[in-house]
Amino acid sequence: MTERVVVLGSTGSIGVNTLDVIARHPGRFEVFALTASTRVDLLLEQCVRFRPVVAVMASVAHGQVLALRCRDLGLPTEVLCGPEHIARVAADERVHIVMAAIVGAAGLAACMQAARAGKRLLLANKEALVVGGAVFLRAVAEGSATLLPIDSEHSAIFQSLPDDALTWPQQIDRLILTASGGPFRTRDPATLRDVTPEQACAHPNWVMGRKISVDCATMMNKALEVVEAHYLFNVAPAQIDVVIHPQSVVHSMVQYRDASVVAQLGTADMRGPIAYGLSWPSRMVSGAAALDFTALPALTFESIHTPEHKARFPGLQLAWQALAGPSGSTAVLNAANEVAVEAFLAGRVRFDQIHVVNAETTSQVHPAGVGSLDDLLALDEMARRAAASIVRRLKV
Ligand code: NAD
Ligand code: MG
Repeated sequence: MTERVVVLGSTGSIGVNTLDVIARHPGRFEVFALTASTRVDLLLEQCVRFRPVVAVMASVAHGQVLALRCRDLGLPTEVLCGPEHIARVAADERVHIVMAAIVGAAGLAACMQAARAGKRLLLANKEALVVGGAVFLRAVAEGSATLLPIDSEHSAIFQSLPDDALTWPQQIDRLILTASGGPFRTRDPATLRDVTPEQACAHPNWVMGRKISVDCATMMNKALEVVEAHYLFNVAPAQIDVVIHPQSVVHSMVQYRDASVVAQLGTADMRGPIAYGLSWPSRMVSGAAALDFTALPALTFESIHTPEHKARFPGLQLAWQALAGPSGSTAVLNAANEVAVEAFLAGRVRFDQIHVVNAETTSQVHPAGVGSLDDLLALDEMARRAAASIVRRLKV
């Protein structure tokens, strides 16, 4: 049977890699819908190549341009405009698999719809789970959806867990997330105030979108991943550890009760986890190169608890702080971080001030009684306003 796939955020780094994997398996997958925010040229190119039934642009103005160009080329694709249509295609009854690769909380509504509609939901969009938390997981359970991680660390943990998910919580001791340390792992923390967006986006091992690249440089990406691991694997925050592993070969590990550790290894290529999500529980060709063990550099590991790393990466601790707070606290942290990163990329705050925005917002905004998607969206909005006013106050 051909499996019909929706790629949310098809013009991004994960979206493009997803289409690369799909193209390696003609006949197995059919691209039902592609969605993007504003990149008309690339979405048009993808429509020509994959002939989706539907293409959606979040931006109405850009969607109108795409519609005209699709019509001029005589493409069969129906073009829709506006975020509400993104959520709608994610829940379409003809769809089997949804790749959630929108960046930020903007992807939450579509993830929730796909979950309620019982799709196989491949989650790259970690912010959706950090914001949605228990509300998101309830939608997954109610819709009998299958939630599979695409983030390389969480895919590694998923691949290192036994099949019998009912017994493993008693068997595991710790989940150990690896972190490359990003471009500033050895930089003098006192000079972080001078970091430019271009420097922050130049990751040593992975090629990614700009927002996640900045998150890797601050380690807020790992903070979001700690929260993501807590929700995905139902493990207590105290059982989640982070270790710096600059070579990005070991993608993460599970330590069991008997002190045995199971790890997943591979080259730094997101097509590996993407292919696993698409083909689970079996495996298929991904396009990623195999590891050459005899040519590998020495694999090294560093504690995140040294005074230097604590000064370089102060934001990492905010994950455990937020997980200890009331429901919704991780949504506040995410909102603050999205506002701070956007302000940094626009030159409105310094790199080292991203943490100031995050720490101050989480100490100012106290969530209460969060129980629905609407509550979360209201909280997200409130936290964004608080973060934006902190940004305005800071001097670059
Ligand atoms: P990206 O910036 O390259 O792409 C983002 C995509 O989302 C684009 O297609 C864009 O059009 C779309 N988009 C952005 N804002 C939107 C909005 N408001 N409404 C609708 N669509 C919108 O990002 P990326 O690097 O591909 O990352 C996507 C997600 O995957 C993020 O959550 C990121 O944390 C996660 N992730 C990425 C990688 C990676 O290697 N790139 C690895 C692990 C996890
Ligand atoms: Mg990751």
